[in-house]
Amino acid sequence: MQPCDAGRDLVGKPSSVPPHGDLAASGVSAFGPPGNMTKVSSRWNCTVCGNWMYQNTADGDPPKEWAIGERPADWPAK
Ligand SMILES: [Zn+2]
Repeated sequence: MQPCDAGRDLVGKPSSVPPHGDLAASGVSAFGPPGNMTKVSSRWNCTVCGNWMYQNTADGDPPKEWAIGERPADWPAK
C-alpha cells in the first residue's frame, strides 16, 4: 500500500510531531501482563491511504519515532 505524502513525511520523525489531519486514533499497542502493560505506541489509521501509523513511545521500535506498518494483529479486518 502506497502511503500518502503526509504519511510518508511522518515516518522517521520524532513522536513529538503531531499526527497529520487524516489520521484516526485507533488505540494503543502494548505488551506485558494485565495491569502492568508497557505501551509501545499509539496507533493511527490513515483515512486517505489506509496505512497504519505507529507513534512510538520510548519502548517502541524505533523508540520515540513515527513508523508505518501492518494492520495490528488485534484489529479486525474490514
Ligand atoms: Zn495516508
